[in-house]
Amino acid sequence: MGFSLRRILSGWITNDVAIDLGTATTLVYVKGRGILLNEPSVVAIDNRSQKTIAVGREAKRMLGRTPDGINAIRPMKDGVIADFEIVEEMLRAFLGKAQKRRLLIRPRVIVCVPSGITAVEMRAVRDSVEHAGAREVYLVAEPIAAAVGVGLPVDTPAGNMVIDVGGGTTEIAVIALSGIVCNSSIRVGGDEMDDAVVQYIKKTYNLMIGEQTAEVIKIKIGSAFPLPEETEMEVRGIDLVAGIPKTIKVGSAEIREALKEPVALIAEALRSALEKTPPELAADIVDKGIVMTGGGSLLRGLDALLREDTHLPISVVSNPLECVVLGTGKILDEIEHYEKVLIRYSKE
Ligand code: ADP
Ligand code: MG
Repeated sequence: MGFSLRRILSGWITNDVAIDLGTATTLVYVKGRGILLNEPSVVAIDNRSQKTIAVGREAKRMLGRTPDGINAIRPMKDGVIADFEIVEEMLRAFLGKAQKRRLLIRPRVIVCVPSGITAVEMRAVRDSVEHAGAREVYLVAEPIAAAVGVGLPVDTPAGNMVIDVGGGTTEIAVIALSGIVCNSSIRVGGDEMDDAVVQYIKKTYNLMIGEQTAEVIKIKIGSAFPLPEETEMEVRGIDLVAGIPKTIKVGSAEIREALKEPVALIAEALRSALEKTPPELAADIVDKGIVMTGGGSLLRGLDALLREDTHLPISVVSNPLECVVLGTGKILDEIEHYEKVLIRYSKE
């Protein structure tokens, strides 16, 4: 009982935070309280005053439908920070939302970053989070956070392979002894799939649709592998010839065809990652299998396709959208135990 009381008290006094700063989604976990924020990484800016008028879900609704004076921006493109100042604003807003009570002590923050990030980009993330109000900032590589989130033993010599299909990137990493042994990252993820759908609909039907509509199509009827039952849906867009709104029907089989290229690029990245894996670790992976995480791993049949391609046991984790932030949170909760996975960078 004394223990839990201490936990509750320490939850009041400290408010340590774990952040998954994704290209598509940002999640914030507060120690002892769980995931308190899960919103699109989007910021809407007023062009004239340069002021932020909305962040997160509200800003995402404005994507592709902003009037002249407003710009809805995704400040994290391709897994890295495309616009430092806007990321900082976004983080400040999200941290404020996640911690409703103003606390005297500024939080200690762990942020997970893509493993391919450069030193300069790491510095930028750290600075943004510091400026957004953190007392101390630690960084952890995303594949390791994902592996911890799944409950894999990251500190043993045995190799674990994680595939993270995010919005902007797909990252494939082999983890052993608390570090990344080898890693491949391609700038193909869910966004590229959306783009492929936009292009396909344009080419096939002369119909212009927005990114958000493309994402809905992908999530509703998209697939990477033949479905037991093919479906179809209505899609609305602008007819490029007549210039007026038009509704068409598209089928799941043709959307699969449209998604072929990004899906093939992901499969190819996996093959090349496997080729780069040291033989001892490759043997571990054959035994233990590969876990997939990230929202893109939810594309129907992507796991089946990769299994067929590699003949390896590959499975999607049970909560691919939250697994990275939960792993980061676990690292935060047991920071002494996980000290080795924290990325070191010189203070100056
Ligand atoms: P990031 O870590 O880069 O922020 P996420 O892991 O949050 O990315 O994944 C976001 C991507 O996952 C988006 O492209 C989104 O469209 C896609 N996604 C989410 N749910 C599904 C689904 N059910 N099927 C296919 N793609 C999905
Ligand atoms: Mg992610």
